[in-house]
Amino acid sequence: MTFLTNPYDHDKLHEECGIFGVYGHPESAALTALGLHALQHRGQEAAGIVTYQDGQFFSHRAAGHVGDNFSEESVIALLPGSSAIGHNRYSTTGDTVVRNIQPLFADFASGGFAIAHNGNLTNAVALRRELVQRGCLFQSTTDTEVIIHLIATSTFDSVVDRAVAALQMVEGAYSLVALHNDTLIGVRDPYGVRPLVLGRFENAWVLASETCALDIIGAECVRDIEPGEIVLINESGVQSMHPFPKRPHKLCVFEYVYFARPDSTIDGRNVYDSRKKIGYELADESGIPADVVIPVPDSGVPAALGYAEKAGIPYELGIIRNHYVGRTFIEPTDRIRHLGVKLKHNVNRDVIEGQRVILVDDSIVRGTTSVKIVEMIRSAGAVEVHMRIASPPTTHSCFYGVDTPTRDQLLAAQHNVEQMARIIGVDSLAFLTMDGLYRAMGLNGRISDSPQYCDACFSGEYPITPTDQSGDQPSPQLSFLTQLT
Ligand code: AMP
Repeated sequence: MTFLTNPYDHDKLHEECGIFGVYGHPESAALTALGLHALQHRGQEAAGIVTYQDGQFFSHRAAGHVGDNFSEESVIALLPGSSAIGHNRYSTTGDTVVRNIQPLFADFASGGFAIAHNGNLTNAVALRRELVQRGCLFQSTTDTEVIIHLIATSTFDSVVDRAVAALQMVEGAYSLVALHNDTLIGVRDPYGVRPLVLGRFENAWVLASETCALDIIGAECVRDIEPGEIVLINESGVQSMHPFPKRPHKLCVFEYVYFARPDSTIDGRNVYDSRKKIGYELADESGIPADVVIPVPDSGVPAALGYAEKAGIPYELGIIRNHYVGRTFIEPTDRIRHLGVKLKHNVNRDVIEGQRVILVDDSIVRGTTSVKIVEMIRSAGAVEVHMRIASPPTTHSCFYGVDTPTRDQLLAAQHNVEQMARIIGVDSLAFLTMDGLYRAMGLNGRISDSPQYCDACFSGEYPITPTDQSGDQPSPQLSFLTQLT
C-alpha cells in the first residue's frame, strides 16, 4: 500500500505492509490479531481487522501497534464471524489518517468488499486521475483504493471477473487479501514481488505475508501463493486461478536481506539461512584480519554469524539494542531519526576496547545508523573498525513497496565506497557483490539480462515500469476493463 501524494500533501509515499486472512474459524478476529502481531515488523504505524458474519461486516482500525489495539477481549468481541482479513501499515511522515488505515471497505451491488494490500501500484496516480475524471469519489489517499474503484466501475457481472479485469489494469507489486461476503480472496501479482502464503489451521484456511504469522497460531504452511495466482476460499475449499499473462518471477531480494523476519520461509527459502549464507559470501569476498565480528543488532545478526563462522573470527555482541524503540528508519524526521539511533543502541565496552572490529549490518540507506554506531565503537576504544555490508550498495529507490528515501538521500547513490568509508568513519568498508548475493540465494550468480529476483534497489533495473514516476504518465485505457482476456 502506498499513499498518493497529489490530493493530500500530508500523506507521503511510504509503504510496506503485512497482511493476514482467515476463512472458516469461529475465532477469526483473534487469529488475525495474532497473525498481525507476528507481522508487526512489516508495519508499525496502524493496524486494522475486518470480519464477516451473516451478511454483515465488522471493522476496527486504529493507529499504533497491534498489541495496543487488538489485545483486549472486548475489542475482539466487536469483530464476530468466521472470516477475517487484517493489515499492518507502515509509516507515513504525516498524521495517521484513519481513512487510510486498511483494510479498506466498499459496498458493491453484490455485497460488501474489504481489501488489504502489501506492495505498491506503480500506475495508481495515472489510474486515479482517470477514475476521478469519470466521477469516482475517493475516500482515502491510498493506491489500494484504485483497485476498489476499478472493480466498482467494471461491467462484468461477478466480483471475481471484475477483480480480474481491475487487476489487469494495475501495474506494480501487490499481494492482496480480500473478503467478498464470506469468500476470502488472495492474490499475488504476476511478478510475485511480495510474498504471500497459504496455511491450514484446524479446519480453517489462512493467508499471510510470511510463514512466521502461520507459526504464531500453530497453522501448517501449505504452500506459497504463486506469482499471478488468485485463490478463492469458501465452503467449496480453495479454488485457484491464473488469469494473468505469465511474467518472470521477480521476488524482492530485499525481503531476504532485511525486510522479512528471519524465522520465515519465502518461496521455499528460509530467511535466516539466506542471511547466514550472505555472511559466508561476505567473508569470502572481503575478509580482513580482525579480532572480533560484531553485528549491528538485529538486522546484522545472521550475516555477522555467517561471517564470523566462515572467517574463523570470534563473534561477540558488542552493541546492545534496546527493543523498546521502534525501527530507527521509520522515525518521522531527520532530527528524531538521529535521536532514535542513540536511543536504540549502546556499546558493550568490554568486548570492544583494544580490538580490531568487523562491524556487520544488512544495508546502508542514509548512513545515519552507521555513522552513529561507528562513533560509539570508536569511543569505546576499538583500534580498527571495518564495516561489512550484507548487500550491494542501495543506489535506487524502491517503487514496489519497500520504504526507501529518494536517491538524493541514499548515501550510495551520492558517493562511491571510498567516500562512504570516510563519511562513516571506518578504516575499511565493503559491500556484498551482486553475484555474491545471488550465490547466497543458492544460484551461480546473477543472470544479467534476466535477474532471478527484483534487485532494483541495488541495480536500478526495474522489472515493472514505474509509470507514476515518469513525468508524462500515459493515460490508461479503462475501456479495457470490459475486455477480459
Ligand atoms: P540508515 O541509517 O538510513 O543508513 O539505515 C540503515 C539501517 O536501516 C540498517 O541498519 C537497516 O537495517 C535499516 N533499513 C534498511 N532498509 C530499511 C527499510 N526499508 N525500512 C526500515 N529500515 C531499513
